[in-house]
Amino acid sequence: MTSSLTDKVVLVTGGSKGIGKGIARVFARLGSKVLLVARGAADGDRAAAEIRESGGIAAFQRGDVSELASMQRAAAAAAEQYGGLDILCANAGIFPSAALADLSEAQWDKVFDVNVKGTLFSVQACLPYLQKSDAGRIIVTSSITGPITGFPGSSHYAATKAAQLGFVRTAAIELAKYKITINAVLPGNIVTEGLQDLGEQFLNQMLAAIPLKRLGTTDDVGYAVAFLASPEAGFITGQTIVVDGGQVLPESLQAVGT
Ligand code: NAP
Repeated sequence: MTSSLTDKVVLVTGGSKGIGKGIARVFARLGSKVLLVARGAADGDRAAAEIRESGGIAAFQRGDVSELASMQRAAAAAAEQYGGLDILCANAGIFPSAALADLSEAQWDKVFDVNVKGTLFSVQACLPYLQKSDAGRIIVTSSITGPITGFPGSSHYAATKAAQLGFVRTAAIELAKYKITINAVLPGNIVTEGLQDLGEQFLNQMLAAIPLKRLGTTDDVGYAVAFLASPEAGFITGQTIVVDGGQVLPESLQAVGT
């Protein structure tokens, strides 16, 4: 797998932080040329510089996934800078918390705009370029929350993550005629800058529910994404890979053991 992604052009939405930054780092390590897309230029420029300092090829482009024109500019920038586009990682997402009794229409719309409409716009913007690639790939970052599990305060977020999978399954059929595959990864609890801020007690509670007894790393997600992007995964489309250390498996905390 490691040599087959060399020189591929990859656009990662939400590539300036967290899981997206980890995905971008993995592709760069495997020899791909990466364009990180996010709204904030300071984090984006820093993430791209870090990858370049480690010997990778990376650049940052400002873009907002909830605006089609913005994503069209980002996709064009990838193609201009690197001569085409082979792989889209539709990863950008937000996860605000609100109890459903208090959830406003504006809060509901906002998370759908970024997580669901943002997935659609990222795919639509990149499609003309992916069609020209001989191995076009799309990998969507969903979550275990929604498709498999629930978490209080996450009804709107969980609905978006499940909606992404409905989108992936139909898109897989529509995009098959262009030989483009589309799949999703479903991360469990992954250590990111934001998660670490929640404190040691919270992290230990999370850890107790994971059979492999560690939190996930952004590399864990990045390598699953890289596999789905590789030529070796060319016959897999419309599918999901759960990356969670076994978190969705136990019937109860008792079943996890010590
Ligand atoms: P994060 O650390 O908060 O990073 C989110 C990234 O998305 C940032 O680069 C952010 O940059 C960008 N972003 C947010 N809104 C955007 C918009 N409208 N347009 C373009 N970029 C935007 O989040 P994360 O934890 O890495 O999560 C990334 C994805 O993984 C999400 O889809 C999330 O649902 C999923 N996920 C995360 C976990 C976890 O444990 N962390 C678990 C399951 C699934 P700007 O704000 O500067 O735009």
